[in-house]
Amino acid sequence: MTERAERVETGLFGEFGGSYLPEDLQKVLSMLADEFEKYRNDPEFEEEFRFYLKEYVGRDNPLTFAGNLTEKAGGAKIYLKREDLNHTGAHKINNVIGQILLAKRMGVKRVIAETGAGQHGVATATACAMFGMECTVYMGKVDTERQALNVFRMELLGANVVAVEKGQGRLKDAVDEALNDLVENYENTFYLLGSAVGPHPFPTMVKHFQSIISEESKRQIMEKEGKLPAAVVACVGGGSNAIGAFSHYIDEPDVRLIGVEPEEAATITNGVPAVIHGFKCLTLLDENGNPQPTNSIAAGLDYPGVGPEHSYLSTSGRAEYVTVSGQESLEAFQELSKTEGIIPALESAHAVAHATKLAKVLPKDDVIIVNLSGRGDKDVAQVYEMLKK
Ligand SMILES: *Cc1c(COP(=O)(O)O)cnc(C)c1O
Repeated sequence: MTERAERVETGLFGEFGGSYLPEDLQKVLSMLADEFEKYRNDPEFEEEFRFYLKEYVGRDNPLTFAGNLTEKAGGAKIYLKREDLNHTGAHKINNVIGQILLAKRMGVKRVIAETGAGQHGVATATACAMFGMECTVYMGKVDTERQALNVFRMELLGANVVAVEKGQGRLKDAVDEALNDLVENYENTFYLLGSAVGPHPFPTMVKHFQSIISEESKRQIMEKEGKLPAAVVACVGGGSNAIGAFSHYIDEPDVRLIGVEPEEAATITNGVPAVIHGFKCLTLLDENGNPQPTNSIAAGLDYPGVGPEHSYLSTSGRAEYVTVSGQESLEAFQELSKTEGIIPALESAHAVAHATKLAKVLPKDDVIIVNLSGRGDKDVAQVYEMLKK
């Protein structure tokens, strides 16, 4: 057995990951880890997963050559992996489908989730509608007010949205409520986590379902260019689109893996090892040792922690992590719209901003793959407000 396989099995990535939980919750997650292990290599499960990725999500999505952006940057060729073209407009649905299929195998009829900006809640509510699952989404009260339209979307899709008033009424409080619900109702309830974070088995499970991104992009770039990319670039919030975009290249030492964080929530760049939300990762702490509030213009990147595998890929030196400012991402948002006719999510615009800088300093026959994690329709009103000011 390789060293990595052993670590994944126990949910550790170097010193990061694992689970630090009260006993009753640990029991529930150990059960979940066993169920995941049972099905992750089951051909029938895999076939069903692939079926829904094709028929419902719309995969494979293209690897589009961004010719105009490449010409403007004047260096390496830029390709875009088009997660923005998935049903519901982002990569999150890949993981949601995988976890719902697991819930189905476990005989569970009720799904719960937490959501901050609402994107994961909408993806979860969508798949629950299709699979006939009862769906409850916990959301901080403050977030429900700021994201009223996403609350309405979830309700349209048949979900029950619970506004959490406890604490500060934010994402962290929604997570706490969802975990309480899970402990009370674990016999009929599945907690569907939205990023490559949290206690074991979530980071490993989310990576497994999101790794379809790099499985496709690797095949596609070999078909189009006959060689591997010089670099793969993806934005990092909790880290699910990035780990999916990286995973099939981790064992290819010549491919640079580059995660892009917002300057305003640069967890890996500025964080220290600490345990938050039941697992160990690089974390932004305030002077009292509490998770620090972050303030990125991209709501999906606003999290004081990050996936344990990214923490490990950073400290081990396999992947590089850089930062991009809100202003730079706003410029990239407009530039990709104008040059390629593709309006990216503000999260993805961080990756586009860095890739454009990188392309300028790499040779013309090099290839960069940017993971375009989502489309920007959800951000147009916000950008309108920002540009008017
Ligand atoms: C949620 C989201 C992200 C950030 O989450 P990760 O788990 O880091 O991928 C990035 N882009 C889009 C479009 C999102 O919706």
